[in-house]
Amino acid sequence: MTPRPMAWGEIQFLIDEMMMQSDSLARTADLPKHPGWREQIRQAFRDAGTLLEFLELPAEPPDTPRFPMLVPRAFAQRMEKGNRDDPLLLQVLPDARERLVETGFVADPVGDQQARVGRGLLHKYHGRVLLVSTGACAVHCRYCFRQEFPYPDNHAGTGQWHDAVEYIAATPDVDEVILSGGDPLMLPTARLQELTDRLSGIEHLHRIRIHTRLPVVLPDRVDDELVTWLEALPWPAVMVIHANHAHELDGSVEQAMKRLRGAGVHLLNQAVLLRGINDRFESQRDLVRRGLDAGVMPYYLHLLDRVAGASRYEVDEAAATRLVERMRRELSGYLVPRLVREIAGAPYKLPVL
Ligand SMILES: *Cc1c(COP(=O)(O)O)cnc(C)c1O
Repeated sequence: MTPRPMAWGEIQFLIDEMMMQSDSLARTADLPKHPGWREQIRQAFRDAGTLLEFLELPAEPPDTPRFPMLVPRAFAQRMEKGNRDDPLLLQVLPDARERLVETGFVADPVGDQQARVGRGLLHKYHGRVLLVSTGACAVHCRYCFRQEFPYPDNHAGTGQWHDAVEYIAATPDVDEVILSGGDPLMLPTARLQELTDRLSGIEHLHRIRIHTRLPVVLPDRVDDELVTWLEALPWPAVMVIHANHAHELDGSVEQAMKRLRGAGVHLLNQAVLLRGINDRFESQRDLVRRGLDAGVMPYYLHLLDRVAGASRYEVDEAAATRLVERMRRELSGYLVPRLVREIAGAPYKLPVL
């Protein structure tokens, strides 16, 4: 068969294809197999057996966890093989102790439900509202204080912002919107854009804050589209990442942080004090130093919220106080996070010392 002469459009198309291929070849040469962030969520570890096998650890008897396990491979890769006490593993591995009923450990330890002012909207503190933008997250931390949050009827997901936007528009002393969840960056960037487009009509808003763990557990979420959205926001943007251990902040996270800072985003970290994970002075010191290397300033160190199922993580207040006192003695002032505890009904997160 004689090949038919090609039209210019087809040739251009082939050139584009080739360019794209060589581009992706160049990329795959540095980073073999590099699926996008959504695909990475699809490929995340979803049962303890497979994760333990990946980490070359002995299998444990199968168990039905309190809520499903979810661990992106990008996060699991930072765990130490063969170490059952790895500080990242301990945050995400389901444990039979989650089903113990213990006094003081409750479904809503922070009083979220009392603070509800509309679908997915919590107004707890003066001047700022928190929008539970989605129930989804890319990692299921076993101590998550919103693990029992009634997400299905109560998040302002796609197309359900209406209530929230109305409330904010009608409440002039709210000048900051906090996007939280779940994890707000689980939403496609186009949805986030829709939301901020609506909010941008509200004159009394002056700040936006995003509480997210995605840039840590899935740094590829910080893609071109996200950076473009952030750069174009009409307000100063603060991002509070959630990293609990220096090992979470590897080179890929550092790159993501660099891009976020390039977009003009102020980066803060909040951590939860977790027994056996980051309750030694050295762990906290390394976390804040490593954070600073990546361009992130410490913000809060939270005492554990006493959510049902999380008691194995609790560090007592006296130990927490000693730890932070030592940080004050040995570190630059700006490297010491504020040790706080959240009490339902209190007007702010209460300083512990
Ligand atoms: C933590 C939190 C905030 C933010 O408090 P800051 O002290 O400003 O960081 C706002 N709203 C709710 C419901 C919160 O839980």
